[in-house]
Amino acid sequence: MKFSFKILLCMVIVMALALGFSGYYFVNYVFETSLEREVGQALDENSILSFAFETAALSVPAKYNVMPDTTVEEITSNLEKSGQDSGRLLRISDEEKNILYAGDGFDVDDELLAQTDESVKTYQVIESKGKYYIHTGTAVTALNRVLYLETMRDVSEVFEERAMGFSLYRRVMFIMLIVGTVIMHFISSLLTKPIRILTNATKRMSAGDYSYRAEQVSRDELGQLTRDFNSMAETLEQNIERLEEELKAREEFMGDFAHELKTPLTAIIGYADMLRSHRLDEEQSIMSSNYIYTEGKRLEAMSLRLLDIIVAGKKEAQLQKVSAESVFDYLKDMYAANKNMRFSFDYDKGEFLAEINLIKTVLVNLIDNACKASESGSKIEVNGYALDDGYRFAVKDYGIGIPKEEINKITKAFYMVDKSRARKNNGAGLGLALCVEILKIHGSELEIESEPGSGSCFGFVLKSSIADKDIGEAGNEISDKDITKIIEEKEENTNED
Ligand code: ADP
Repeated sequence: MKFSFKILLCMVIVMALALGFSGYYFVNYVFETSLEREVGQALDENSILSFAFETAALSVPAKYNVMPDTTVEEITSNLEKSGQDSGRLLRISDEEKNILYAGDGFDVDDELLAQTDESVKTYQVIESKGKYYIHTGTAVTALNRVLYLETMRDVSEVFEERAMGFSLYRRVMFIMLIVGTVIMHFISSLLTKPIRILTNATKRMSAGDYSYRAEQVSRDELGQLTRDFNSMAETLEQNIERLEEELKAREEFMGDFAHELKTPLTAIIGYADMLRSHRLDEEQSIMSSNYIYTEGKRLEAMSLRLLDIIVAGKKEAQLQKVSAESVFDYLKDMYAANKNMRFSFDYDKGEFLAEINLIKTVLVNLIDNACKASESGSKIEVNGYALDDGYRFAVKDYGIGIPKEEINKITKAFYMVDKSRARKNNGAGLGLALCVEILKIHGSELEIESEPGSGSCFGFVLKSSIADKDIGEAGNEISDKDITKIIEEKEENTNED
């Protein structure tokens, strides 16, 4: 059953009960008041008749010491006749409660008469032959006799009025219920409109229309529910978009990965096949083996780099205070033997928070890229600037530069602007992706400025104090122990070669 119908049904039941009880109470109250009034009048009348009887008894001739039964009958009959218009009936009984006179139609049992005595006046409401009467009884003392006078007053009208009241009220209630049901139907459907809108919105969303929002039609709790539903839908839509993007990026990554694997694998398989199926002279054998070795090495370097990216993305940086001097000393030592380029290391003294080995990896990658992009003998500037709340590194070259439309893409895994040039330099398009992951867990990002033909500048800022929220969302899925194990395994593999 629909919720609006349930509300309607409840309201109709409540209204019917309220109308029924109030109507019954009202009609009955009017009836009881009228009956009480009639009882009062009947008792008053009884007193007046007793008095009239006693007065009439005074005119009985003095020769009688005791009032004879015939006189009693006569007086009672006269009293009854005098009130014939009011439909009043009388009955009188002697001391032994034997009936001396009873009006025509005075047809009741003697129960009330038995209860009446000199000190007790009695009354009861009785039904006789479809009519209602107030039956009263009282003792009358006249001429040395104690007699019992009973009256019957017709009050059928009061009962008829009650029956009419009930029937009229039933009709009014029926009409009020019909009109009320129509009004309440509108009210219940108005009240449940937000629920219908929300149900529709839920259906649209489950059918895949995540951009659909429910219209807010009230400011009450249901309005609040609509607002909450819409904000939930907003979050859901954003999450779905994010997941779709991630899925797309993962698919692209798998495609690129497979593509990058293909070239060295084709070379390895081709040369290995040549070695096993042809008789080659020594020079050809060495050349083939060499190709297999270098392509294998390239594959190994690619897999290690991928592992680095995965590990960097999962771990949390173990931040320590690092002095700029120690980093620049390391870089100077590392590139001292490289005479192909003109290196300049210029830096402010200062400290920042970082995991030193990871930051060295970033800087070495950036400097290596700068070397690969530059002509032999070209200048490469590695600079460090102390900032108010951190430290900025910048690696600048005067090499080939990067076209504007490529700048956003080069940090994607396996992306190379010039593939053949990158492969010649043993590149696989993974260096910058690793830098980005490392900087992310340091709460930083890579800034790239470049002009084709003029050179490029890669920079990033490390903070001297880092708030928790600035650290990248590194999960705890891989513990530090795991990372050490992976790095150890990697080193072992390298040493074996
Ligand atoms: P790799 O160097 O292994 O190819 P990277 O992720 O480090 O991979 O770089 C991706 C691509 O970005 C490079 O192939 C190159 O085309 C471009 N690139 C990176 N650094 C520079 C630079 N300093 N100057 C010009 N191009 C660059």
